[in-house]
Amino acid sequence: MKNLIQMSFAGLLAFGISACQLNDNSTENSAILADSTALKLINDSALAGHISRLASDEFEGRKPFTNGEVLTLNYLEKAFQEIGLEPGNGSSYFQDVPMVDIKSTPSPKMSISGKGGNLTLNHLDDFVAASRHLVPTIDLKNSALVFAGYGIVAPEFGWNDYADLDVKGKTVVVMINDPGFADKSLFKGETMTYYGRWTYKFEEAARQGASGIIIIHETAAASYPWAVVRSGWSKSKLFLEAPDENKSRSLVEGWISQESALKLFKIAGINPDVMQQAKQKGFKAVDLGLNMSLSVKNEIKRSVSKNVVAVLPGAKQADEYIIYSAHWDHLGVGEAINGDAVYNGAIDNATGTAALLVLAKAFKQAEIAPNRSIMFLAVTAEEQGLLGSEYYATNPLVPVEKTVANINVDAMHAFGLTKDIVAVGYGQSELEDYLSEAAKRQNRVVVKDPNPSAGFYFRSDHFNFAKVGIPALYTETGDDHITGGVSFGKAKKAEYTSSKYHAPGDNYDATTWDFSGMVADLRLLYEVGYKISRETKFPAWKTGSEFKAIREASLNK
Ligand SMILES: [Zn+2]
Repeated sequence: MKNLIQMSFAGLLAFGISACQLNDNSTENSAILADSTALKLINDSALAGHISRLASDEFEGRKPFTNGEVLTLNYLEKAFQEIGLEPGNGSSYFQDVPMVDIKSTPSPKMSISGKGGNLTLNHLDDFVAASRHLVPTIDLKNSALVFAGYGIVAPEFGWNDYADLDVKGKTVVVMINDPGFADKSLFKGETMTYYGRWTYKFEEAARQGASGIIIIHETAAASYPWAVVRSGWSKSKLFLEAPDENKSRSLVEGWISQESALKLFKIAGINPDVMQQAKQKGFKAVDLGLNMSLSVKNEIKRSVSKNVVAVLPGAKQADEYIIYSAHWDHLGVGEAINGDAVYNGAIDNATGTAALLVLAKAFKQAEIAPNRSIMFLAVTAEEQGLLGSEYYATNPLVPVEKTVANINVDAMHAFGLTKDIVAVGYGQSELEDYLSEAAKRQNRVVVKDPNPSAGFYFRSDHFNFAKVGIPALYTETGDDHITGGVSFGKAKKAEYTSSKYHAPGDNYDATTWDFSGMVADLRLLYEVGYKISRETKFPAWKTGSEFKAIREASLNK
């Protein structure tokens, strides 16, 4: 089957096999294709029923640690019970997610000194910094600065910015994004790999034992201006409670502006062209001959939120799981805009949460039950940094090597049917092949995300599954509207981003919402999961995926 499916449509015709024969006629095929009873359960009114409740003012914007959380958790538990799914955590539908809220306040000045002079950087204008160590005061004194290019160790691309470098006790200064951003022949070209994300830079610096890590901001390479870094780092942040109290992290993590980096290279007596050289293979890290001092004060608060987890046991390979995920949380009640203070998050992500319930019912009522178990996981605190999914992935309720795939739903648009569906991070895994095959049956196409350098594959919950090696699929609504075309679809998305995204205007509106696109997309996601549930093979990451090696190691354990 696999080889046939992977052949092009034209290839099949050349062999005299029609798509009909391939998909419908053999007994084997009818058993792996979704039946119409199940597909019909994925419909407008089923979705609207859940979305209108979850996105109502009564649910107060579904923020963790509020009454909105209590209502949301109760709603999901009751719905999963009514559908007939089993609790996914022993006798409970919940998984506790312990979190810490850290408000880091660095000293107002970062002091840098060396042979060529001294430099003082101002908090927020020139630098931001925080510490994840769960202690009230952190003092970094005279830490030697080392410029380590992109700060990347990527054996599959033959790249190691830390080669022959001992950074223990030192502070590394690195560039944002990956070498493919500058030179399309390197890494994955314009498609950002995980090595380009700031979260990776911090993780790698910690693995290398660096005491501090500073990222040089650059607007194009980061895909957002300094103002976004500045505001994001001015607030307290939620993290998962870490058993080691985050002692394995670098003491200080932060960013400096591009202008500050140029000043830094100047007093180090180093030509700023070193940043260009760092974009080439074989670059060697440069000791800047400078010392940096900074202190950080931490205010720490602890609290517990919950993931919701329900399971439909498989008929044959019940110990193997396909996990559908969506974040139930949103932003709660906040600053009023046009007299509305409730951030209802109807699109983001009452749609995905409702999708879990609708998919669960379809799987439960399928004429031929799935062989593999299906888990429905509604995760908390996505908006605070993908925390519920990170907790699940690092404290899984079923083994990672028995988790066949993750399919994540986050924010489906309601402007109608599109001819395309976007596979975010296109090229990552074979799950996209299942999606393409299902899309073909709907006379639709799978396309790649239009802005791959922004790294959207690393910005929703599926990414935490990918990080532990589980192949993960994340789709977005396409642009090519069935009657209005690409211009209509793009305009609708732009309107959402500018006036509704993360604003009180993200409301459910029964009079204007067109569910046809959402229904079609969800039926595709159902078909992908259903087909995999009737197989024995494990879909794999594609060659070149940064997650392939970790999956292979985990499966061969
Ligand atoms: Zn979301």
